[in-house]
Amino acid sequence: MFATDNLAEADRLMRICNACRYCEGLCALFPAMEKRRTFSNGDLNYLANLCHQCGACYYDCQYAPPHEFDVNVPVTMSKVRAESYAAYAWPRALAPIFEKNGLMIALTAALSVAAFLIGFMAWSDPGVMFSVQRGEGAFYAIMPHNTMAALFGAAFLYSIVALVMGFRAFWSDIGANGSRVEGQSIWQAIKDAGQLRYLDGGGIGCMNESEKPADRRKHFHHATFYGFLLCLAATSVATIYHYVFGWEAPYSWYSLPVLLGTVGGIGLVVGAIGLLKAKWKRAGEISNPSRFGMDTAFVAMLFLVGASGLILLFLRTTPAMGTLLAVHLGFVFAFFLTMPYGKFVHGLYRFGALVRHAMEERT
Ligand code: SF4
Ligand code: SF4
Repeated sequence: MFATDNLAEADRLMRICNACRYCEGLCALFPAMEKRRTFSNGDLNYLANLCHQCGACYYDCQYAPPHEFDVNVPVTMSKVRAESYAAYAWPRALAPIFEKNGLMIALTAALSVAAFLIGFMAWSDPGVMFSVQRGEGAFYAIMPHNTMAALFGAAFLYSIVALVMGFRAFWSDIGANGSRVEGQSIWQAIKDAGQLRYLDGGGIGCMNESEKPADRRKHFHHATFYGFLLCLAATSVATIYHYVFGWEAPYSWYSLPVLLGTVGGIGLVVGAIGLLKAKWKRAGEISNPSRFGMDTAFVAMLFLVGASGLILLFLRTTPAMGTLLAVHLGFVFAFFLTMPYGKFVHGLYRFGALVRHAMEERT
């Protein structure tokens, strides 16, 4: 009946929790669970993506190990969530990437950086690649703008299509297809996701190293998430500068794209370091070691994108610019390619689950 052993275990736990209901004030998962008497695969995937892994329900649970009921909702939901990413992957043939995710992402990153470095050296005049380039269009002396736009546009477009197809499969499986989605539900979900409302253990904070809610995972997640959005905004503004006003990069220190990109890059670097540290220190009883590679690879990739962008910004008027540009573009390209097959999808499915939850609460 259940597609995997972890879904069967999640069903067992949800039936215990539905009889107990002690944790109903902790997060969105428990109220959503209480609206159901039985759980399909899609229901369990929906609940798993509502869980934010704060750990509170493990430390509050009178049936947690060593009790014979062996209730561990955070770890079980983490396993179900990881399986759900692979289950909705598009195209299906690429779903196995999730199994060896850390290795695959590391390989893609290494190959992309190598390809950009070798490509630059093969097609650029060494005199240009390893010398100082200044002023408007300096980057394009090494890689023509149209080539850059075509390459990154294609990778980005592919990722968007794969992400949309995955989200469609998720939305259908959690039983939301055909339901009317009101603007209020989307707005509620944006607020809940933007504040990480359900990462606070019902108001006392997130547990990470022990049952004492003392970690700052939420703040580091905010730094990473908003840093990413600022970097996206920087790229969008730069695209408008290029195509609408005809102003070519690199831009001055005080220009809008550089200011947005600098703050965003710092957010990515600081947030990623904090999240990696928190992951390293997470208590064994609420950790899912099988997710370690995927989580670490994703956060490490964000760090590398942010750090390589900042280093390029500071050294763009030196002879190292060509090499640094190749390294930064390699990491960004690998990030785009791996977006649909790594931890990035958690944002999409969690947001979908929050919209669904807001819809259920309204009705
Ligand atoms: S996690 Fe434990 S305490 Fe909380 S609802 Fe489930 S069984 Fe009850
Ligand atoms: S968000 Fe926290 S309280 Fe809710 S199910 Fe997940 S670990 Fe438990």
